[in-house]
Amino acid sequence: MSTDACERTVTHLVVAIDGPAGTGKSSVARLLADRVNAQYLDTGAMYRAATLAVLRADMDPGEAGVADIVASADIRLIADDGGDNVVTLNGDDVSQEIRADEVTGAVSAVSANAAVRAQLVEMQRNHANEALLVVEGRDIGTVVFPNAALKIYLTATPEARAERRHRQNIAAGRESILDEVLDSVNRRDHLDSTRAASPLRAADDAVRVDTSDMTLDQVLDRLAELVETRIGGQR
Ligand code: C5P
Repeated sequence: MSTDACERTVTHLVVAIDGPAGTGKSSVARLLADRVNAQYLDTGAMYRAATLAVLRADMDPGEAGVADIVASADIRLIADDGGDNVVTLNGDDVSQEIRADEVTGAVSAVSANAAVRAQLVEMQRNHANEALLVVEGRDIGTVVFPNAALKIYLTATPEARAERRHRQNIAAGRESILDEVLDSVNRRDHLDSTRAASPLRAADDAVRVDTSDMTLDQVLDRLAELVETRIGGQR
């Protein structure tokens, strides 16, 4: 098979879900994968693991040299059928540690590094295989899988997104102050959408879904319907 044909075969089985923090993207992507019997890939978890490697090396997340640290780190994401992704860094399961505030505060700086992105994008593409894959991130429809069969761009107001993150924090037993969460959401949106390397933006052919006033089940139903219409017959 030619490289082009191979690329087409693989990418037509991808559902790309992009959008800013707190739109419900992770829950929706994971549950959608489960519902449509697909594998799930959380690319944010890879950027978080890369950031943890940088912090463990005591480096400033904005330094150019962070790409060397990331290159020498063994980051793996085990994508099981529908379920949660397990992330390992140099053999340790860091799935919980990558959600810590310290990592969240530094991840946008590390992910603005073009050399870091190039490494992680390659790893992400290696996850595409014959199976249907639901991939969530910031640049999936624009950069990682530009030929994805279905591209979804989830949005919500900053207030709705901060409220959701706040509730998730409380439920997970993490300390949380709503105003601080809103500041962090706004700061991360700004950094992610104004960076030079693969800024957060909707692909021209993405379906936009505003989740501000939708329940998780409503979003899930809408996305499952889109998967059925666009990909159903091709599986
Ligand atoms: O999705 P999550 O909030 O875990 O992502 C953490 C951070 O990783 C984002 O704020 C963004 O800076 C970065 N990211 C990215 N490209 C992706 C996924 C995440 O730059 N595809």
